[in-house]
Amino acid sequence: MQNQTPETILKETFGYDQFRTGQLSVINKVLAHKHALAIMPTGGGKSITYQLPAMMFEGLTLVISPLISLMKDQVDGLNTLGIPATFLNSTVDGQEQAQRMSDLRHGVYKMLYVAPERLEVKSFFSFVQQLPVDLIAIDEAHVLSQWGHDFRPSYLNILPLLSEIPGNPAILGLTATATERVRENLQELLGVSDDDTVLTGFARDNLALKIVRNQDKRDYIAKYLRENADQTGIIYAATRKQVDELTAYLNKIGIHAARYHAGLSEKERQKQQEAFLYDESPVIVATNAFGMGINKPNVRYVIHYSVPGNIEAYYQEIGRAGRDGLPAEAILLYAPQDIHLQEFFVQKSEGSEAYKQNEYDKIREMNAYANTQTCLPRYLLQYFGETVTQDCGRCSNCLDERELVDVTVDAQKVLANVMRMNQRFGKTMVAKVLKGSNDASVKKYEYLRDLPTFGLMKERTLKDLTQFIDYLTADGYLRFEGAEYPVLKVTKLGADVLKGQGNVTKRLEKVRILRQSATQ
Ligand code: ADP
Repeated sequence: MQNQTPETILKETFGYDQFRTGQLSVINKVLAHKHALAIMPTGGGKSITYQLPAMMFEGLTLVISPLISLMKDQVDGLNTLGIPATFLNSTVDGQEQAQRMSDLRHGVYKMLYVAPERLEVKSFFSFVQQLPVDLIAIDEAHVLSQWGHDFRPSYLNILPLLSEIPGNPAILGLTATATERVRENLQELLGVSDDDTVLTGFARDNLALKIVRNQDKRDYIAKYLRENADQTGIIYAATRKQVDELTAYLNKIGIHAARYHAGLSEKERQKQQEAFLYDESPVIVATNAFGMGINKPNVRYVIHYSVPGNIEAYYQEIGRAGRDGLPAEAILLYAPQDIHLQEFFVQKSEGSEAYKQNEYDKIREMNAYANTQTCLPRYLLQYFGETVTQDCGRCSNCLDERELVDVTVDAQKVLANVMRMNQRFGKTMVAKVLKGSNDASVKKYEYLRDLPTFGLMKERTLKDLTQFIDYLTADGYLRFEGAEYPVLKVTKLGADVLKGQGNVTKRLEKVRILRQSATQ
């Protein structure tokens, strides 16, 4: 293959006419033996960025991937394309393993897939050191970062090993997680410069995002699945119990659904996954254990039965819809108690305080997203650091036809109060002071009652006020700081509103209109 160019290999081996955004740029860096980082959305076409160079290198490309269950499929796919690839993991028996290792020594393969744990086995690592490795690709690299959404500390053990593989192979990290913090962390861990970091746009124009609040989730799903009976989709739930209960419910009402979670046996998981992949079950109900690396092009919808713990995971999960480029939907069913459930997970988790704090921050960001009234893709892309000038016109917020009202004055009252309280209190206290509450928690701080903002919004209910504060937080006028007792701070955007620069608008709530007319 030495005489071929990336373009001809793309066409002749992979059968594609053009590179997708970012692919060629990554490939060129890899071919130049640089250490690089490819950050592309799920379905963006990351695999080719190491599979194609693998065809051009004389030696071997080592692919480190945590996805043992998918290695066989990936390798079978490559073999079908005529790319000599193999994998070594716990599913391969001793004799076959010996054969593959012998073939590797004899240069039979261009690619070898292994799980990170395997490299930690001394004898295996010595074997790898004897192979002519040109490229090391680390798939799902975000698991290396403590700021990533699926941190696996043990994977850090493999990093020092990489430099002990002779021949100075290029290293390529690949992930769909793009927050700045993770990006910088991975750059540092893998020794990648800014110039060698390729970050492609995260926009998925074929995906319509929707957030549904205050609805019976089961009824919503039953109705949706009946209306879309000829389509295929994934429903993500937060716990194994939720998966089991929802699947049982759907099957009871005559909707055939597969299920997937880590509590099922390996064999059962395989069976359920295949039922979905081969369209025997149009729907799969799953925890986040399902989907890493799943490449089913015709997934038409992803429904979140419960709010996930962070935006990165959410983004990755919705990215599994519409990989074929045709229109698809991602629906988030929101209930405030979902957020408490996620907080509970963190509370129970093991990890340092800093780690937990970071997880709480992520839950809050996710909650803010679920409550924003701005264009949803726009919000997400801004979260990932992209500048977006236009609304999508397709998401549930863009299509929201409720009347838009100016709430600048109310916003100023809340923001002024947060400032007066020296930005040292949480949401409930801020709401209580605005309400002019006399309860003990307020009395404890005498000076609060003397503030000019005390009772400034006494005509509103406490619930109303906390919801309004949530709204201002979701849209970035306020932010929380601190883990255990998060306090409210006024952001730069909020400060502008206080100075009279910028208006705050809000959709008129239908429920509130009803409530008002009921009391009149
Ligand atoms: P990722 O790993 O980024 O989630 P994949 O590498 O699995 O994405 O690619 C997603 C899909 O896009 C696959 O079906 C792949 O064959 C296809 N694909 C990749 N590159 C191209 C291309 N240049 N043109 C057309 N299809 C492509």
